[in-house]
Amino acid sequence: MDGIIDFQSVSKRYNNTVVFESLSLELKPGVVTGIVGESGSGKSTLLQLINGLVQPDFGLIKVFGQPIPSENLPSFRRRIGYAVQGTGLFPHLRAERNIGLLGEVEGWNPEKTESRIEQLMLLMGLNLRLRTRYPHQLSGGQQQRIGICRAMLLKPEILLLDEPFSGADPLTRIAIHERFLDLMVTEPATVVLVTHDMQEALRLASELVIIRKGKVLQMGSVKEVVNNPNDEYVEKLLGNTHAP
Ligand code: ADP
Repeated sequence: MDGIIDFQSVSKRYNNTVVFESLSLELKPGVVTGIVGESGSGKSTLLQLINGLVQPDFGLIKVFGQPIPSENLPSFRRRIGYAVQGTGLFPHLRAERNIGLLGEVEGWNPEKTESRIEQLMLLMGLNLRLRTRYPHQLSGGQQQRIGICRAMLLKPEILLLDEPFSGADPLTRIAIHERFLDLMVTEPATVVLVTHDMQEALRLASELVIIRKGKVLQMGSVKEVVNNPNDEYVEKLLGNTHAP
């Protein structure tokens, strides 16, 4: 099957920092791909290249089978949900408005926005009475789930998640993972999940891309990578993991 996200010899640098040098990468549609690597390896930049927030210096990025458009980026981005760790929620807006904002932008009527907000909150296991709270009145885990609801509002075909679960304590995190997996059954999307936590990637993803210093060390199905780590670093990240 064709890649829904296709990087062809992509190079990107910030001043003297080379993030990617001729990176080629193809991601499968309809599955969760975990992008795993330590801090500074280029994971966030990769996501920002996919949604056009950052432009490559060289190379081509195709999304949905087409080069990222240089015009009409809003209609392109509407097809892509994006949730970022910790940030993203507007502190002065209640949870429900944070989730529903894009519905307002789309001109949805209030009833449609409201029922979609409720649907998503329930799918993510959020009590509906939390809808009128401001972000600071919510726990870290609740804020993260609100962020995911917001990213899913328009039923995006692609969902980009940048360390979306790392603000929650370990037990809450596992509960959110389960909700997230349920959500992906109900509303499947192509998910690119950036995480430094291999165990999280193994729990949620079916495909893995291991990156280090902007280079892909290994990519393949979880099973392939776990059974045949092709590099000491990948082995180290996997620790004592056994094949699923
Ligand atoms: P990760 O998400 O894996 O932590 P990033 O993609 O955030 O990695 O960063 C990759 C490298 O690019 C790092 O060295 C980082 O300091 C640098 N970088 C990222 N964004 C910027 C920016 N806007 N300006 C300058 N350097 C940046």
